[in-house]
Amino acid sequence: MADDTDLRHLRRCVELATEALEVGDEPFGSVLVAADGTVLAEDHNRVASGDRTRHPEFELARWAAANMTPGDRAAATVYTSGEHCPMCAAAHGWVGLGRIVYASSSEQLSSWLAELGVPAPPVRTLPIREVVPGLVVEGPVPGLAEQVRDLHRRFHGSP
Ligand SMILES: [Zn+2]
Repeated sequence: MADDTDLRHLRRCVELATEALEVGDEPFGSVLVAADGTVLAEDHNRVASGDRTRHPEFELARWAAANMTPGDRAAATVYTSGEHCPMCAAAHGWVGLGRIVYASSSEQLSSWLAELGVPAPPVRTLPIREVVPGLVVEGPVPGLAEQVRDLHRRFHGSP
């Protein structure tokens, strides 16, 4: 399960999700970390631009494709505040990135949004391993998942 290093990167993802929220975007954040622990890239959701594909995991996959060797990609880890959607999981798989650690699951997000009365999104959620079999995937992480839930509540106007 997630160790101290993983938790440090996941806390950064929650910070990035908070930054997204503070600029009016949906609260999601992700970090790409090399095998030696170097943080290579990070991003948060940018769908408020009007482009609903601007998810951080998708941006990181494309950054990896442009900037990393196949071997380095396979040895890298992507940390994220919320489990990849099917689009981002597919991009991750096509690019050949390695392990994923998420703070909160898509199943958790779906239940939180249902509680908040938010209409279901046009794309259904799937567990990452339904999209990319064989990938090492860890999460959710208790404590951090609740922080992510609170960010979604704030985004949707609930205290
Ligand atoms: Zn996505």
